[in-house]
Amino acid sequence: MTYVEGQSGSWEMVIGLEVHAQVTSSAKLFSGASAAFGGAPNDHVSFIDAGFPGMLPVINKYCVEQAVRTGLGLKAQINLTSIFDRKNYFYADLPSGYQISQFKNPIVGKGEILLDLENGQSRIVGITRLHLEQDAGKSMHDQSPRETFVDLNRAGVALMEIVSEPDMRSAEEAAAYLKKLRAIMRYLGTCDGNMEEGSMRCDVNLSMRRKGESKLGTRCEIKNVNSIRFVMQAIAYEAQRQVEILENGGAINQETRLWDTGKGITRAMRSKEEAHDYRYFPDPDLLPLKLDASWVEEIKNTLPELPDDKKARFMQDYGLSDYDASVLVAEKSHADYFETVAKGHDGKLAANWVTSELFGALNRLNKTIEESPVNGEQLGALIALIEDNTISGKIAKDVFALMLETGKSAAQIVEEKGLRQVTDKGAIEEEIEKILAANEDKVAQYRAGKDKLFGFFVGQVMKATGGKLNPALLNEILKEKLNG
Ligand code: ADP
Ligand code: MG
Repeated sequence: MTYVEGQSGSWEMVIGLEVHAQVTSSAKLFSGASAAFGGAPNDHVSFIDAGFPGMLPVINKYCVEQAVRTGLGLKAQINLTSIFDRKNYFYADLPSGYQISQFKNPIVGKGEILLDLENGQSRIVGITRLHLEQDAGKSMHDQSPRETFVDLNRAGVALMEIVSEPDMRSAEEAAAYLKKLRAIMRYLGTCDGNMEEGSMRCDVNLSMRRKGESKLGTRCEIKNVNSIRFVMQAIAYEAQRQVEILENGGAINQETRLWDTGKGITRAMRSKEEAHDYRYFPDPDLLPLKLDASWVEEIKNTLPELPDDKKARFMQDYGLSDYDASVLVAEKSHADYFETVAKGHDGKLAANWVTSELFGALNRLNKTIEESPVNGEQLGALIALIEDNTISGKIAKDVFALMLETGKSAAQIVEEKGLRQVTDKGAIEEEIEKILAANEDKVAQYRAGKDKLFGFFVGQVMKATGGKLNPALLNEILKEKLNG
């Protein structure tokens, strides 16, 4: 928990997030038009999406299934009866004059998300609800000096609005929440979580209260923040802004604000008095949505292993630390890659290779794990060579660099370059003798008590042999020689 220090004491942040997550589905929520991202403007628009009079919405069962799946992944209550309402407002990118949403009776009720925090600690954030709704179209104000263009491709695409309890206490917790929620949806295949393409957007609600106070303060809502980094920046800025007002005896005006990326500030957009009255009412074109308990059960039975369970299993089965397991399960593709590498090998060694060597290399190459020049089996084969003492861990790093560069297998590189580790005692002794003979003065110093020189001898022998001696044997024999 972090506090914001004011002149008169410490202030605590209270944060609740509303996330709009685009449902992964090929068709829209109430029409058969394509829900794909992109396309020429107004290519993916049916009469329903364009709000033509007399058109009737037909619910897309798959989108409902995706919402249920997400709810189950959030350990949430699934409401077997839910109701679609009309949320009325006027805007050019909303031709029907209302958005079909869910208000009082959402499809998913209370659930929770477990946050993995930096120091190995965890924390539960409550989910208030998840409801289904239509996305609006896109107004483009920057294409012409005189006109605004409207693209309805996005209009009618299914969104899940996921509302959290005001349970977060820092920007880091908000970030951890968004990452975990995104990971869960990606594991489930219900939302791709791509914030740049807008398939996941976040409204940040934030209020401040004095440390120790249990009552909630007045909040502001920062709309549509489109990256986790911006969410963190917006929270830091907004917390400071509110503390300054409160410290000066002022009151927070409950309002909707915008995050100005360029200036790095939040700006007032509209106050509570100007808030829309959406005149929600049940959509007369749609019956209440009723689900069979057995259908929900069926979906539950096909849920994949989710991040928390996978993490526990990685710690149990592979002996990984809390931290390594968290890092690996954060993305399903990373977890899958790791398991391919670890198959038949030491789990911790495999985890080290994936989290440091592989991730480091991908970072440098600016590639995703799917684009990795070395696949999981190939990395596993490299690790096998370390395990059976064909090469040392140090040489393995050089081999790995060559694998990335050439696409050749570890075994092939080891043979071609003659990197096979020397485990022959006689040969190692010979190399050691040479170095000791060339450094008699240092040998004498070592024997007189300068222990630190041990590393020097190891380094010299390794240098002379291209690092190919088995390090354990080298250490053992060198010790014998120096002490003997
Ligand atoms: P609205 O319908 O106006 O958006 P909600 O009550 O649904 O309001 O709350 C929206 C979000 O605001 C939720 O994520 C909730 O946790 C959060 N929230 C509510 N009150 C506060 C508060 N005092 N401080 C911070 N967040 C809050
Ligand atoms: Mg809201």
